[in-house]
Amino acid sequence: MPIWNLGSINIDHVYRLDRLPEPGATQAARSYSTGLGGKGANQTVAAARAGARTRHLGAMGQGDDWVIERIRATGACPAGIQRLPDEATGHAIILLDRAGENAIVIHPGANRAIDRDALRRALSEIGPDDTLLLQNETSCQLEAARQARQAGARVIYSAAPFDIDAVRQVLPHVSILAMNAGEAQQLFAALPGDLPVRGLLITRGADGAEYRDLRTGQTYRQAAFRVTAVDTTGAGDTFAGYFAAALDRGDAIPAALRLAAAASALQVTRPGAGDAIPDRDEVLDFIR
Ligand code: ATP
Repeated sequence: MPIWNLGSINIDHVYRLDRLPEPGATQAARSYSTGLGGKGANQTVAAARAGARTRHLGAMGQGDDWVIERIRATGACPAGIQRLPDEATGHAIILLDRAGENAIVIHPGANRAIDRDALRRALSEIGPDDTLLLQNETSCQLEAARQARQAGARVIYSAAPFDIDAVRQVLPHVSILAMNAGEAQQLFAALPGDLPVRGLLITRGADGAEYRDLRTGQTYRQAAFRVTAVDTTGAGDTFAGYFAAALDRGDAIPAALRLAAAASALQVTRPGAGDAIPDRDEVLDFIR
């Protein structure tokens, strides 16, 4: 059953510098690299590498066709990506100093200019056994969540970057709400009381993760695998994509948590975000 993902696509431009620039200063970078990023694209890569049939829905500007090819190369279907002539492809300018400290500018561009009607058409075939993934880096989450729920699909919403207004709107149409510990703290402070969702997935970095089934009251806990982390960017997206793919295959919650924890543990041992996400065989080898 397909996993659909309405998600951001960013091109990451990474500049390594001796030190982060002061206002008014000009500095030559020591190195430059580009990569595919954005929480949405990362979750698509994770779900596809986990073996799920995955379709990415989103938007880019013109050009940058390598991005589409990169998504296709993971096995995911990029046909639902709109090409908007008047918008720039979303991108992030990432400055890193020698100590690993960073300064980041993001331009959402096309990610926040998604054409509603085209999205509705692209999602028109979503069915009751399918899953829709959503995060907070695009526009149209509410419309997509509503359409997916009307079709009976499971909606997994990562409330990141945290935005209480978006959460309030989308939550009534969500099956599983996914957050890291910081986001969970903000959510519980802003919305005390019962949440209208089936389950809560909370990740806690090296402290592991938990899933609370709000219908039965049961909490499932998963420890993090012990690894030496070199770059944790994209760990949460790896977890969310693998967790969704495991549920899509019919895994029970404990097995889904374990697979997702193993995938994200491997991912943090490598530099980069989407490019560092392992495939299912590597993950199965790791936990065997
Ligand atoms: P990011 O914003 O960096 O993408 P996040 O804050 O959304 O990540 P985390 O809670 O930090 O997400 O991490 C998600 C999962 O990744 C954790 O639940 C854990 O399973 C795994 N993980 C993260 N950091 C480590 C680590 N140092 N060692 C092992 N596993 C880790």
